[in-house]
Amino acid sequence: MGKIADTIISIEKSKTSKIAQVDFDNLAFGSVYSDHMLVCDYKNGAWEVPKIVPYGPLMLNPSAKIFHYGQSIFEGMKAYKDAKEDIYLFRPLDNHKRFNISAKRMAIPEIPENYFIDGLKALLKLEEQWIPTKEGSSMYIRPFMFASGEGFHASPANEYKFMICLAPSGAYFAGKVKVLIEETYSRSANGGVGYAKAGGNYAGQFYPTQLAIEKGYNQVIWTDDVHHENIEEAGAMNIFIRINDTLITAPTSDRILDGITRKSIIDIALDENIKVEVRTITVSEVVEAAKKGTLKEMFGAGTAAVISPISTFGHRGTDYDLPELENSYASIFKKKITDIQYNKTEDKFGWRVKI
Ligand SMILES: *Cc1c(COP(=O)(O)O)cnc(C)c1O
Repeated sequence: MGKIADTIISIEKSKTSKIAQVDFDNLAFGSVYSDHMLVCDYKNGAWEVPKIVPYGPLMLNPSAKIFHYGQSIFEGMKAYKDAKEDIYLFRPLDNHKRFNISAKRMAIPEIPENYFIDGLKALLKLEEQWIPTKEGSSMYIRPFMFASGEGFHASPANEYKFMICLAPSGAYFAGKVKVLIEETYSRSANGGVGYAKAGGNYAGQFYPTQLAIEKGYNQVIWTDDVHHENIEEAGAMNIFIRINDTLITAPTSDRILDGITRKSIIDIALDENIKVEVRTITVSEVVEAAKKGTLKEMFGAGTAAVISPISTFGHRGTDYDLPELENSYASIFKKKITDIQYNKTEDKFGWRVKI
């Protein structure tokens, strides 16, 4: 399929703009939306040409399968403005690839690369003024796709919508993150959908996370569903553990999401001659290391926060505090990644894409 020129993506401009009401110096994360959105319909066995329309509510039939069977997936990406106000994406083809991996698992038709990438670029160009420039802020991009077709029959829908919405967002400061190692509930299972960014994966985490919050934690660290012995990942972040000077993270599997931040960190670490082990890491190994003082860092990695350092983890009623380090790996990786994203440094990995 050829490139879709901006001219064939029809653009219906909104009559008014909300931009003057937005306080770009005090943006929260993902709670203000730009004036337009991209919509693309799947009907009669094919994707129609995407269109850009004013951001606003959708009309859906109550029998749309999204409401009943949860056929829905999403992605999370960001666009960055550099000092010259040029716009960049970070590894966008990887998001497209993962989107289709998620789609396939949920029996949703895959979206062609040019619809996703060219559609996103056209939307970002139209909304250029909405991309924040303040240090640490960016345009959060939410591509998503769901079953709009009707029917109470539990089977895949025959109609879908692919959409992209944009949310100018401030730096995501999670503060000191206190996590609980979960041993009762599971996020995902062998043969399941944990590797997909499927809506229901996140709904399923809300209740156990609420219980953890009631106990004074911010988030849950998921362990394997069989014995709850192995550290897997957090709600929307992969987990890294530093013991002495070695960086350890779990291998991806059908239970763990293949994070783009995760794989970027692994590449940067190897490039910095930091020892990386991609292997199963058990809860008891982490508890032992904490007791011996060899546990130096734990952090989450994902597009929203880039890196979210963990200050404390709870396990079976005991809290273990992590040391506060100068020049932590977390701070090194965060700087290296964001410098590439914001075009502050050369990008020897070829991750940055100018639009
Ligand atoms: C999105 C997500 C991540 C992080 O992926 P990135 O590509 O780095 O943003 C990790 N785990 C889960 C469960 C996720 O949904």
